[in-house]
Amino acid sequence: MTSAYRSLPSVERLLSDERVTEMASAHSRNVVVELIRLCLADARSEISAGGNAPELQELIATIGERAAAMSAEWPRHVINATGVVLHTNLGRAPLSDDAKEAMLRAAQGYSDLELDLATGRRGSRQAHISELVARATGAEAALVVNNNASAVMLGLAAIASGKEVIVSRGEAVEIGGGFRVPDVLQQSGATLVEVGTTNRTYGRDYEAAITENTGALLAVHASNFRVMGFTHAPEIAELVEVGARRGVPVLHDLGSGCLLDSAQFGLMHEPMPQESVKAGVALSFFSGDKLLGGPQAGIIAGKKELVDVVARHPLARAMRIDKLSMAALAATMEHYIREEAVAKVPVWRMISMSADEGKKRASLWAEEIGGGVSISEAESTIGGGSLPGETIPTWVLAINCDALGGVVAVAQRLRSSEHPVMGRIEDERVLLDARTVLPGEDRMLIQTVKRALKGEG
Ligand SMILES: *Cc1c(COP(=O)(O)O)cnc(C)c1O
Repeated sequence: MTSAYRSLPSVERLLSDERVTEMASAHSRNVVVELIRLCLADARSEISAGGNAPELQELIATIGERAAAMSAEWPRHVINATGVVLHTNLGRAPLSDDAKEAMLRAAQGYSDLELDLATGRRGSRQAHISELVARATGAEAALVVNNNASAVMLGLAAIASGKEVIVSRGEAVEIGGGFRVPDVLQQSGATLVEVGTTNRTYGRDYEAAITENTGALLAVHASNFRVMGFTHAPEIAELVEVGARRGVPVLHDLGSGCLLDSAQFGLMHEPMPQESVKAGVALSFFSGDKLLGGPQAGIIAGKKELVDVVARHPLARAMRIDKLSMAALAATMEHYIREEAVAKVPVWRMISMSADEGKKRASLWAEEIGGGVSISEAESTIGGGSLPGETIPTWVLAINCDALGGVVAVAQRLRSSEHPVMGRIEDERVLLDARTVLPGEDRMLIQTVKRALKGEG
């Protein structure tokens, strides 16, 4: 037992090893010393649990791995070949070139973020974006915060704290990631009043529940699930009519900020902010990084009077969006205003890609890779809590994994390569979907698959 402890090298001994000296000059001596201590402590607990002392070589390799892991860049670039356009684990929407450039401009130097260049006086970081959102949606004004979860929370806190908010039983839902409508309402200081039933709720249900304590009617888009069959929910315009009759504002959580009609791409129609604004909704809430295809952000668009009330709430400062996201969002909004979103916003470019185009790309990959793969038809999905169950016909590269140690092993090799590729597993094959692989990633994907076929990571 004690001899096992004694056989562990000292910190000095390890530091005198050539490989460790190299690590110390590549990282920092202090960091490497710290890692040596941690690794030795791990070795001692191994021994106390009845294990053997590691060999010197083994110890040095472990220290090397930990040093490399520490200095690895993060987040790493991953090729999304899952066919899921908005993959939350992969960071949702990739940005357009203009959005990336705007972000870089905002990051690199100083900017007129809160400065009016004409007068030299202090300006508001919200003024410019409010105008862009107004032009893209038709709303009178807008306020942008960190994400849609905070947008909804802030909107409710500012408009309905201490009051009742009427929600359909079918819409008191959980969106995922801890966002549950009843909990958000409670945290905002409002009281939830549920009306109707899980599957059918009518305008008159809301109307019957309105009292002098009602602060708002809240409609929530069931983004990531669908109720089918014998269902009813009032049109948003009907809800606005009820609210107008009784002097109660209607708030609408749309989830995705879908500014283009999804039906033109063969998908179900996703509710659009423009439609809510037109119907007379007081405040609409939506995400920046779902179907809008921009950075993480929460947009509150609607009547100026109410947007101003929200902007003055103390929580607005706590949820303030940073300048990089603001810059990217402004550039993304411009694409919609210039009616070039299908060509310029990656999310829409992917959704609008034809199956033929996908086939061409998948064939090209298969040709370059040679044997061991084939191409076939499949279905891409939208993801990111948008358009559940909706699929778009696509083409995939299919890797037959029988001779390669199975699908799990192949998927793992693809992920751990120099250019990690995320595919999906279906019918004992790994599928790589052409739809979500960005232009310019083909070479890396081909290289990675070739290596995986040779059994290399
Ligand atoms: C996604 C979603 C949210 C949360 O939006 P984030 O931008 O992810 O914070 C809230 N409400 C609905 C209906 C959603 O779909």
